[in-house]
Amino acid sequence: MAKPDSLFFFIDPSRCIGCQACVHACTECDTHRGDSMIHLEYVDRSRSTQTVPVVCMHCEQPTCAEVCPADAIKRTADGVVQSARKPRCIACGNCVLACPFGVPELYDERKIMMKCDMCYDRTSAGKKPMCATVCPSQALFFGTREQIDQLRPQSIPTNRFQFGGQAITTGVFVMAPRRLAAPAPLVDVTAALDDRPPARAVRLTLVPPPASDRTGAAPADATDPFAAVEVPS
Ligand code: SF4
Ligand code: SF4
Repeated sequence: MAKPDSLFFFIDPSRCIGCQACVHACTECDTHRGDSMIHLEYVDRSRSTQTVPVVCMHCEQPTCAEVCPADAIKRTADGVVQSARKPRCIACGNCVLACPFGVPELYDERKIMMKCDMCYDRTSAGKKPMCATVCPSQALFFGTREQIDQLRPQSIPTNRFQFGGQAITTGVFVMAPRRLAAPAPLVDVTAALDDRPPARAVRLTLVPPPASDRTGAAPADATDPFAAVEVPS
């Protein structure tokens, strides 16, 4: 069976809350023996707790397969790039170095590269990948284009990425803010490496304590304690 043409995998990194539910759900799958094929990256750990789930993007022209000397990585007709085939993989690590998204991992003791295959046993039967079944914020969503348009009217799915001189189209879509580009943005990953979040300083205006603080009694006309806190947008 093949993955139905109408079903796609959408990632909305801005919705990830770093709960690791996806990572633990992925380890439940028997086919990779307790190892998770999804991991979380911090966007900029010194400034933010924001995390991003990383799965195989199922590239239309997979670099991992192009550099594999043993022809161990196959892309099936439904656009899913399969994990390395055990009899062929020689664990050379070329794919690990070449993947622009940092997805494949080498398992030295098993002498094989393993990566996300979009839970092919499930998605080829029209079911969601394990990670998408548990993600509480729907940062990971598997469904139709119509469903995601209805669910995220402020966002637009994109599957085009620029890495320096290399343009990549993927089978997995990333949700980008609709106001930034239309009809579909191209994500310039190299330029984004230099992006810095705008400063969001919180100014606190100090006010004298109410007279009641000195007597211990609550003031009859107590004002909003947060009225003097100003958060610039
Ligand atoms: S994201 Fe990396 S591992 Fe996945 S298909 Fe593309 S090159 Fe291969
Ligand atoms: S389950 Fe969803 S919200 Fe939780 S870490 Fe994974 S992607 Fe992020």
